[in-house]
Amino acid sequence: MSAELIDGTTTARRVREDIAKSVAELVAAGGTVPGLATVLIGDDPASHVYVRNKRRACAEVGIRDHHRHLPADVDQATAAALIDELASDPAVSGILLQLPTPGHLDAEALLALIPAAKDVDGLTTANAGLLAQGRPGLRPCTPSGIIVLLDQYDVPLRGAEVVVVGRSALVGKPMAQLLLERDATVTTCHSRTRDLSAVCRRADILVVAAGIPELIGPAAVKPGATVVDVGIHRRDTGLCGDVDTAAVAEVAARITPVPGGVGPMTIVMLLANTLTAARRQQGMAGRP
Ligand code: ADP
Repeated sequence: MSAELIDGTTTARRVREDIAKSVAELVAAGGTVPGLATVLIGDDPASHVYVRNKRRACAEVGIRDHHRHLPADVDQATAAALIDELASDPAVSGILLQLPTPGHLDAEALLALIPAAKDVDGLTTANAGLLAQGRPGLRPCTPSGIIVLLDQYDVPLRGAEVVVVGRSALVGKPMAQLLLERDATVTTCHSRTRDLSAVCRRADILVVAAGIPELIGPAAVKPGATVVDVGIHRRDTGLCGDVDTAAVAEVAARITPVPGGVGPMTIVMLLANTLTAARRQQGMAGRP
């Protein structure tokens, strides 16, 4: 392997320490302790694990845990009433509705009840619109974590050719917009892109969020490129990403491993967003 590994675990730890310090400073300055309400509906085991990890991460930095759990058969009105209650609770700085919700519920309608100022996942129409217009707002955690990682490794963004594989509302689309904000030249690929490899080979920075195990091999990577792998898949042989890491590492200059690359950054950006939300709600602007 010749590529440098981009270490998300270490970077996330560093950012987490900064956040813990900033939370303590906010409280010392007379502010209210930031609080995150994770809302889990039903008993999906993977969602349970995700929510537990988020709650644990909050505790580590001094963010108060306002977790709420609703039964799988809860009706829309009850779930909506809970979001409304959290929306008007001043102790709750951020609200995170864990997706997917059970099939009988309208998740879009529930998300729409989250005030933009408490939307720490950056998923509401208001925050997506603010990002599209390049105005301040809460940004989705995975793409903003990737920007922090690229900055940490001094990967130049201005004028860089960046190819983003995937156009989801959660990752691909906001990723492209955040990179545009940083003056990169951005191409977005998706399931209908003709000759994916040829387009990817143009990239100085290749971000892959397609949800397909090892979609990207060395033939799709320009020598010396930086490769960011957002995918995570469980296989008999262990975890893998959307990139064939071992083979691509022979071509790329830098690559994020799976696990230990993008994943740890996503959670830490949720904490950063919760702190940002709390500060703005208390009229104490700024970022960690
Ligand atoms: P994520 O949550 O990681 O963004 P999604 O499953 O929501 O993943 O979205 C997958 C994205 O990947 C879609 O935008 C889709 O167009 C894109 N995609 C799927 N298959 C391919 C492919 N073969 N080549 C390029 N892009 C693809």
